[in-house]
Parts: sequence; C-alpha cells; structure tokens
Amino acid sequence: MGIKQRISDRVASQLKGALPLGAGDKALNGLIGKLIANPDRTENLFGEGEIFLIKAALYLTGVKLDESAYDGIGTVFKELVGVYQFDLNLGKTTRALPSELALPHGFHVPVVVNDESPFVLERKKGILYLTVNELRLFAVEFEKRPDFYGKKTTDGVEMWKLAQHRLGDELMVTYNTYCHTLKGGNQCRFCSLSPHEPIHRRKNSFFIQTPEQIAEVAEAAYKEGVVKRLEITGGILPNREEIDFICEVGNAIKKRLGTETVPGGHVLVAAPNDLSRIDDLKAAGWEYIFFNLEIWDENLFKGLCPGKQALIGRDHWLKALDYAVTVFGKGNVRSILIAGLEPLKSYLEGLEYLTAHGVYADPSPWMPMRGSLMEGHNTPSAQWHITLLVKTLDLWEQHGWDLASVAKDGWLSFNDLASLRIKVRERKKQEPDYPIEDDLRYKLAVLGKLDF
Ligand code: SF4
Repeated sequence: MGIKQRISDRVASQLKGALPLGAGDKALNGLIGKLIANPDRTENLFGEGEIFLIKAALYLTGVKLDESAYDGIGTVFKELVGVYQFDLNLGKTTRALPSELALPHGFHVPVVVNDESPFVLERKKGILYLTVNELRLFAVEFEKRPDFYGKKTTDGVEMWKLAQHRLGDELMVTYNTYCHTLKGGNQCRFCSLSPHEPIHRRKNSFFIQTPEQIAEVAEAAYKEGVVKRLEITGGILPNREEIDFICEVGNAIKKRLGTETVPGGHVLVAAPNDLSRIDDLKAAGWEYIFFNLEIWDENLFKGLCPGKQALIGRDHWLKALDYAVTVFGKGNVRSILIAGLEPLKSYLEGLEYLTAHGVYADPSPWMPMRGSLMEGHNTPSAQWHITLLVKTLDLWEQHGWDLASVAKDGWLSFNDLASLRIKVRERKKQEPDYPIEDDLRYKLAVLGKLDF
C-alpha cells in the first residue's frame, strides 16, 4: 500500500462519524491527508472550499475544548455572552466559553461546545490547534477581546453586559429577553430568546439598557475601530414600546457620534402595526431594517409563529415590507426566512416573491436552539441547505443584486458561498484555461454539490 493510500485510510478512519453527512468526507479526507505531511503550510494546502466544509462540520458537530483551550478566555480572548436568540451552548456549562473561532482563509465559525465531538481544540506553546481524534489539522485562534469589554459606562455598568461584539465587526444590542407572544404560549416555536436570563437588568423597566448607555458603548466600540455595524433586537413588547425605544437609541447614538445615521445601524423588529413608525425608524438614523417573516408558507407561518400571526398577521407583515422599501430603499429591507422549517418549494416561492419586491430574504439555516420549543429536532441535511443557498444566490444574481456586498456582509454560510463564487469566477477570468469545473469552490458555490 502506498503512502498516499495509507494517509488516506488513516484520515478516513479518524474522520468517520465526524461529519453528519458521508458526502462531505471524501473532500475533507483528501485535504487533511495533505496537511499531515505539511502542517505549517495550511493556507497553501487547504483551499477555501475545504475550509468551508470543515467550518460546516465544526458548526454541525461542535468541538470539544481541551483544558488548555480555556487559557485567556475572558481576558485575552473574547468570551461568549449575550447572544440570547442564537445560543447553541445555552445551559451547557457555567465556565466562560470562547465566542468565535478564526479558521484559515478568513473563515470564522461560532464555537459550539460538544464534549462528544471528534474535533478538539488544544493550546500548545501558545498556539491553538484544531485536531480530530488526536490528528492535528491546523492552527486556529479565538477572537481577541475588544478593549471596550474592559470599560464601564459613566453610571458604572460594565460595557460587555450591555452590548456585545460579534461577527467580526458588529455591535449587537439585545434590549430584552421578553416577548409578548409568550402570553398564551404563542411564541415562535424555534425561538430561544425568552429562556435566557439577561446578564444585566435595569430596575423597573422592560429594557436591559438605557438609550444613553447603549450610545456610550457604541461610541467606545466605534472609536476603538472594532465595529462597523450595529444591530438592535429583542422581543415584541406590549403597545409596541420597543419601537419608541429603538428610535430613542438611534437618536442617542447619532448625537454621541455626531453622525447623520447610525453607521451600519440596523434593526431587527417585528413589522410595526402602525406603518408610520417605519418613517420614525428611518428618521432616527437606522440605515436598514429586518422584519423577519421567518416562514413563507401561510399555514406553517400560523403554526410556527402563532404570536406574530395574532399580534400582526402575515398580510400586514407583507404590506409593511413593501412600505419599508419605499422608505428605506430597495436592498435596505430584509426579512430572514429560516431555511429548514418548511418545504424547499414554498421557501423558494417566498424567496422569489420577496426578491421581486426589493426585499433581501436572508437564508438563515435552522439550527434547533436549546431552550426553544423545538429543541431536540434535527435540521435538514447539509446537501439540502447548500442546494437552497445556491438557488438563493442564483436568484439574487438574476435580479441584479450585488453579490460582492453579500460576500462581505458577515460570516454566515450564504456570505461565505457568495465569496467563494466571486473568487472562483475571478480565477477563471484571470486564467481563461483554468479548469473551473474541478475547483471545489465552483462545485460548492455554483453547482451546490456536496456529492463529488
Ligand atoms: S416574535 Fe417570535 S422570534 Fe421574535 S422574539 Fe418573539 S418569539 Fe422570538
């Protein structure tokens, strides 16, 4: 048996069970085999397509943290806090956990802790390595803790408790963990906002922070240069009080920064019942908004989002999206459709409708959240998701949307695929003879194939 075969067999046995889908193993096994021989040349040996696959495997399978991997979390490296709506580690441990992991080629993945995972993070002589069943893959690193995490507001609250740094360049503000849909058990079935106890509480208020506190944290974060965007979100409140609050926050930030708008500022909020509030949000300096419909199929929307249906209703939601496009402009209105909670066919119908109406329908792959009513369920296969993501990119391109702005907008799977698509096309443009069909990036981001 040749050395190549022996390496390949070793990798195959080590990775068995590491990935939820057999289809991904072949590509991963080949590339990891190359790395064993050249552990210091990761970026040359692991292509972007391969790292994308490893990222997907890490996200779906999770990673075990060796004791050495906890060094510096909360001091040198940023700890995971305040991601109330999207916390895959809820209740797993009381220890401070790392937030995001930087992989080769600029990829990042949230750290999902799983003590049963074959992937392990361990630090040796200061370098953090990713291994699979003791087989070292490559060096990785946690994100640095931003300086503003060590600061307090003028009224004495630690800034990290009020707003959090995430996705590389975003300040995330969650104004509370209560949602009025909880009344009568009508919360969205996939949502994990309310099981969280906020890390900070403001006395006698629905809100975690004051607008002035948020503005102070935003000023510190923008001045430090670690954020370019700011997101504000939380639950639906009685009398839609959250909309007044969000407007006050926008105005307070503009005043502190001395800007006309909140740079990269965006709001994730349920569609306002009173459409004129959309004008108010714009006037308060928010640059773009999300009214997340979540589910396109009419009947599934009623079943999975009963509170949204009861308090606002699907028809009104669609009207609000259309009106918002007239206020914020095409491309500045978004509506997440969760991928994996409805049939592909109805999902694509929704995508087509929203795109034609000037609304970005962000495809957010469903991960069953701990604490949600759907905890313990499974998301569809990786192939199902990649098919949907590639069809989404196709549709956006057909409608003339700019994939370059999608690619640099964050660290989510559709951002990554948009980036792979752009890069592989650039390579072909520079080298017309380049066999693009053999490039893993092309297979993933253009053909949507995991089976190769
Ligand atoms: S409206 Fe639904 S998704 Fe939004 S916070 Fe309430 S329960 Fe969660």
